[in-house]
Amino acid sequence: MSRTLVVRLSAGAVALGCTWIAYTQAPQPQGKQQPKQANNAISKVAEDLYAIIGDGGNSTVLVTNEGVILVDDKFEYDFQDIVDKVKSVTNQPIKYVLNTHLHGDHTGSNEKFLPTAEIIAHKNARDTMVKNKAPGVMRVVFTDETDLFLGGKEVRMKYFGRGHTNGDAVVYFPALRVLASGDIGANNGPNVDYANGGSMKEWGKTLDGVLQLDFDTVIPGHGPVSKRQYLMDYRDVTVKLPATVISMVREGKSKDDIAKVFMTNGGLWVNPNVVNKLDQIMAELKN
Ligand SMILES: [Zn+2]
Repeated sequence: MSRTLVVRLSAGAVALGCTWIAYTQAPQPQGKQQPKQANNAISKVAEDLYAIIGDGGNSTVLVTNEGVILVDDKFEYDFQDIVDKVKSVTNQPIKYVLNTHLHGDHTGSNEKFLPTAEIIAHKNARDTMVKNKAPGVMRVVFTDETDLFLGGKEVRMKYFGRGHTNGDAVVYFPALRVLASGDIGANNGPNVDYANGGSMKEWGKTLDGVLQLDFDTVIPGHGPVSKRQYLMDYRDVTVKLPATVISMVREGKSKDDIAKVFMTNGGLWVNPNVVNKLDQIMAELKN
């Protein structure tokens, strides 16, 4: 019975998939394939701040009278649509692109932005992009924090530690009390990218740091614009989930036993990106 449970969960996980894995690791179809059509919508989140939601990771747009700061740029085929969506709210050019992490559903348009915008990411995100031979590698990196001052507005990009990857940045708009969390707070997780330095063990501690920032609104890496409470609940899962695995492994419980507890808890615990990686999560937490 418990075996069936795991198999069923895994089947669901395969069906729902993980966008960045699909993008970065699946063989790319050649030849006859129609080019993908962008499908996004822009909505106002706060004064001069917008979210572009649809394909790939969410993008955030801050408009100033000296140019636009964009957070994350989806897939390559979304480039023109992002530019058009920004044009629908301002005539200002996109001067900066801030990448929350390396994945191709957040950095896919980098190559097209690089000639006209400065792209900034955490040092580890750039290192892993170079290692993975990803396109659109940025010229500028930071380690703990970098602040941008444009048109009288301030944007803070901060690093609090490992989680989704080893280079997850959050982007904070202090005057608006809004946070773009990237995938450290995405509703398709907590999805640990072990190949690129992610950690389930560290994730909760990282979010404890993020939650020291004073914000009311979260634009997650994936999913709808949310309140601060969303990230607080998310943090609780990233603390309780590894604690549960650690104690159950110590008690000699099997993977099936652990999967059953995840099923009972529901919500993020049964996200395919979590359930599919239970072996890797258990391996990380055994030590
Ligand atoms: Zn990601």
